[in-house]
Parts: sequence; structure tokens; C-alpha cells
Amino acid sequence: MNDAGQKDTKNGRKEWENELWSYLAAGDGVKCPLQNFCLLKSAKQVKCFNDLIGTEYLSNVYKFVDNDSVQFPRDSVEMDPTCFQIGRVFELVFRLAEQLRDGNWDRSLPVPDNLIIKDGYNFPIEIRYIPLKAHHGAIWRLEDCWLIHLNKNDASARKRFTLYHEVFHILAHGECSPVFNKTPNGDINFNEVLADHFAANILLPRETVAAKWAETKDVSRMAAIFDVPRPIMYMALKIEGLV
Ligand SMILES: [Zn+2]
Repeated sequence: MNDAGQKDTKNGRKEWENELWSYLAAGDGVKCPLQNFCLLKSAKQVKCFNDLIGTEYLSNVYKFVDNDSVQFPRDSVEMDPTCFQIGRVFELVFRLAEQLRDGNWDRSLPVPDNLIIKDGYNFPIEIRYIPLKAHHGAIWRLEDCWLIHLNKNDASARKRFTLYHEVFHILAHGECSPVFNKTPNGDINFNEVLADHFAANILLPRETVAAKWAETKDVSRMAAIFDVPRPIMYMALKIEGLV
């Protein structure tokens, strides 16, 4: 994608990035804020995320995504066409991930887990590894920094993924309204899905993934090369139409 034609705006961000934050600021964090004027939905090409909230389908997908003991080729999950692939907000989050990665990445694999935002996002982040019972990670706003808790008991690939997931929440918090709302009944909410989308796209550069997949054709080997949880690798391949 070429941003050459996009002028920087007053706050120094690209227009598309401000567009992203304006959507998130307008939403409640639970639903996609574009539901009333989503072109995809009216064209009935794909399922809208908002129609999936609270469904068994969505909770099955997210149980799968969270499960580090899946094994391939034994395990799989259905993935209907949804706005994850082509929805505007997802596209903007993809561009954000790409922008933040490519400015600081030397093209080594796996993509390092310390590419955190050296330019223009002025917030120190401290990371602590502690045993967590029910979660992979959490963020806290301290007086002079952000604190990310990562679950000490998780595998390294999961910690890397959780780290970037939490970084997305921090970025969103800095750029628009607070993002701490949790869906009360434990349903998967829009902000959580976007945070996963951001983390997956930082750690899994699409062209490199496609090239390695052509060589390996093996989900577990791919997960090892990119050092991401196996289900995340699988979902990324699925979204790209490679499995
Ligand atoms: Zn989260």
C-alpha cells in the first residue's frame, strides 16, 4: 500500500490512521462501529462481525485461537467469510501493524517482539512476567509508564502474541477513548478481535508467510519459524486462503 499521496495531518499521523482511531473512538469497543453504513454488510458478501457476537461460532473460533495444545493436521476450525478479511477497520489495523513493524524491522525471522514503536508514540512500556490464572496478559496505566503483565506460564510464542495484543490496547488508549470496557458476559468483543488482528499482522508479514508456506506446507513448522502459537498461524493461513 502506498501512502505517498496521503498528507500527514496536524497530529503527525497519516489520514488513514486518524480514520482508524476515529472509528474506535466512536464505538463502544464491543461492536464494530461501522455497522450502520457497512458496505460489505449491505452487499451481503460477508458476515458482519456484529451478527456473530454471542454466537457459538464466534466463541468456538476464539476457544480454538486460545488453545496452545492444538495439533496439525489433526485439528481445524471452520472459518466463514467475515469482515475479518476485508472490512475497513480490519484493513486499517493491518496497515497500522505493517507501519509499526516495517519502520524498525531488519527482516529477520521470527519478527522480534521488541519492535515497539520508537517513533511518535511517546509512552514507555514496562513488561512483567507473572503467573496469571485466567488470562494471557493485562495492561495497567501507571503514573509514568504502561505496565504489561504477561503470563509467565505461557509458551514463548504465546507471550510474543499477547505482548503485541496488549500493545494495540495501549495504542488505542492513547489515540482515542479508553478501551478498558470488558464485555460483561465474557463474549468476544470487537476490541479484542482487533488486538488479535494487530498482533497477528505484526508477527506474520503476509508476503513472507506466503513465501515460507510455499516451501513448507506445514502449519507446525510455520508456527515454529514465525514463533507464534499454532492456532494463530493456522488462522492467518486460513484468512489468506492458503489452507
Ligand atoms: Zn485484550
